Amino acid sequence: MAATYTGPIPKPTPETKPYWDAAKQRKLLIQRCNDCSQHYFYPRPLCPGCLSRNVAWVEASGRGRLHTFVINHRGPRNFPVEAPFVIGIVELEEGPRLLTHIAGVEADPEFVRCDMPVEVFFEDITEEITLPKFRPRSESAKE
Ligand SMILES: [Zn+2]
Repeated sequence: MAATYTGPIPKPTPETKPYWDAAKQRKLLIQRCNDCSQHYFYPRPLCPGCLSRNVAWVEASGRGRLHTFVINHRGPRNFPVEAPFVIGIVELEEGPRLLTHIAGVEADPEFVRCDMPVEVFFEDITEEITLPKFRPRSESAKE
């Protein structure tokens, strides 16, 4: 599967490399400020809340809720995804929101709902890069 991926491939930078390295290990990392305790995403060296540089990477639970979404009825140019598909903003349990592909659900408003519980899963696209994506989660699921 990894060998057949034809879409654009993320290029890790010094600031995002821990995120991509962790994804490879099936972990979702976000950053947390040691001064004001706020979790945040996307990766950056300054806390967006208090501008402290005293920040650290921490593992997120991988659970959250679908804050909002859009159903695209055209395939995304250059990405190997068939329309219709769901792009969502997930609000993690820790607070940060991230833009992501919502998979594992029919791209139909009948099945995709704001506030529905979601969980991260990981898709290897190359030897080096693994993409975190999200899918619906049943409230009782352990993982
Ligand atoms: Zn802070």
